[in-house]
Amino acid sequence: MQAQVKLGRIAGISIGLHYSWFIIAFLITFSLAAHFHAVTPEWSTAVVWSVALITGVLFFAALLMHELAHSLVAKTRGMRVRAITLFALGGVSQIESGTPDARSEFWMALAGPLMSAILGAGFLGVARMAGWPSGGEPKTPVVAVLLWLGYINLMLAIFNMIPGYPLDGGRVLRAIIWGITHDADRATRLAAQVGQGVAFIFILLGLYRFFVGANFGGLWLAFIGWFLLDASRSSYLQVELMAGLRGRRVSDIMERDYPTVEGHFNLQDFVNEYLLRSGRRCLMVMQSGQVAGLITPNEVKGVDRERWSQTSVQSVMRPLGQLRTVTADTPAIQALEIMSRDDINQLPVVSNGRLEGVLSRSNILRYLQTHAELQRR
Ligand SMILES: [Zn+2]
Repeated sequence: MQAQVKLGRIAGISIGLHYSWFIIAFLITFSLAAHFHAVTPEWSTAVVWSVALITGVLFFAALLMHELAHSLVAKTRGMRVRAITLFALGGVSQIESGTPDARSEFWMALAGPLMSAILGAGFLGVARMAGWPSGGEPKTPVVAVLLWLGYINLMLAIFNMIPGYPLDGGRVLRAIIWGITHDADRATRLAAQVGQGVAFIFILLGLYRFFVGANFGGLWLAFIGWFLLDASRSSYLQVELMAGLRGRRVSDIMERDYPTVEGHFNLQDFVNEYLLRSGRRCLMVMQSGQVAGLITPNEVKGVDRERWSQTSVQSVMRPLGQLRTVTADTPAIQALEIMSRDDINQLPVVSNGRLEGVLSRSNILRYLQTHAELQRR
């Protein structure tokens, strides 16, 4: 999930918003206005809307506190947190490395719901001090805002503690299974299966409520279930993928006979004779018998089509010295992490200044497919 609007940094973590967040911010402000209008009909329209807006902003701050709680525990446990992105269904913390141990995972997962619970209790406590009669209707706008924030944060804490991976509760469950069995993969598989079960219940319950009661909240629940199903399924696949790559090195998977092109060729010939004909997306550029860099359709696209016949491949290639490279001994999982982190499709494999091969995402995929096929027999 990439943030499209950057808000700034807190404790070295960049905070951002995904476009989908604006839809939900609008919906929340709108339904809050309707809620306050219904609960306190004596308020003027101006008061209703300003109270709704302030509550929306405070709700956003509370969501951010929930994510920050996860991220700060991750940081104290030695993990690197790159960013927090808020989107339609809440927030995600982008944590670069995997969790080192079950105990860290447990506290990291629990920190978010714990923060929401503390905030919820805090808001209700302040509402009480501001004159809220226990169980009664709010008398002033301030109390109404505090009550809504109190309940929504408590609900957030409870919802997130549902044990369906990758919800926070599912992560806590995973950490507990991991701690007992000392098998991280098995813990993820089990927690992801529970997650899929929870997701199915959400979808069925949501559809039932929608069709029987014509309740649009039901549709929302079904949507959350569908999202959770997708997320838990891909966590399951991720484990299978990692299990297939465990113990493998780059040299086991890389391609040794990589395709090459002479550096003095012009782009027109390169496109017609190599790129289109071979179906390869990445070719190594040769200069006097040595690999000097690589070229992909991206470099070609940067040059106007009329100039292709006067432009040489070596003048637009990406020189080997500027590329992220790995060695033949690099663990395959680490190479895959580098590719997803830097958003690149291939890594040159260089040992002692010599190019030994190329590792691409499609190499890894083919390797895993064949690996899985052989295991099935
Ligand atoms: Zn959370």
